[in-house]
Amino acid sequence: MGRHYSGRPGAKGPTDADVLPTPERRNHGPVERLERPIGDNSGRPARPYRAIDTLAVMERRGSITAAMRQAGENFRARFMTAQLDRVVTELSDVAARRIEAGEWPWSFFCYPEDRPRPVFPSSFFLLAPGDGSLGLAVRCPACQRTSVNLVSHEHVDLPFHNDPKVGVVEHVFNDDVAGALEEFRAELYSASFDTRRLAL
Ligand SMILES: [Zn+2]
Repeated sequence: MGRHYSGRPGAKGPTDADVLPTPERRNHGPVERLERPIGDNSGRPARPYRAIDTLAVMERRGSITAAMRQAGENFRARFMTAQLDRVVTELSDVAARRIEAGEWPWSFFCYPEDRPRPVFPSSFFLLAPGDGSLGLAVRCPACQRTSVNLVSHEHVDLPFHNDPKVGVVEHVFNDDVAGALEEFRAELYSASFDTRRLAL
């Protein structure tokens, strides 16, 4: 198998064997040798060590793809240059304006009360995937009773994305959680959902 060195003719292979990372450097983080030699300051071929990062290690192990690694690198580059304070302030302003305008980041339809209710995700106590949608069990912060809605993934994942209409299981659930979970399973797959408008 051929080894190609790009140094001047007559150079006798790598001469950097004695240039090893110090123990102190090794403690600082992983290092590896370059796969191919590069020219050192005097033009001789050398294979120096370089720092490797977590993304590179993950890609090498196959935990992530090259595309995922690139996305991670891009995020890191943006994160390093972002003015995070400004981004956070802008996001809070947008959220505050929307809430003042009567929008709420998350909502669900409370079946016992027969009305939509604003909610925080901490009231979601069970999510179960259906056919491209999610069965969502919510304990109502107002009446403390449980409803099961059928919603889109975005309804749960994205603040201020409220499905205009959601499926609602027409069933008043048990108060005890274990019982409710059993009922939830039974109802979720029984296709007895009715559609309700979610406008608050
Ligand atoms: Zn309620």
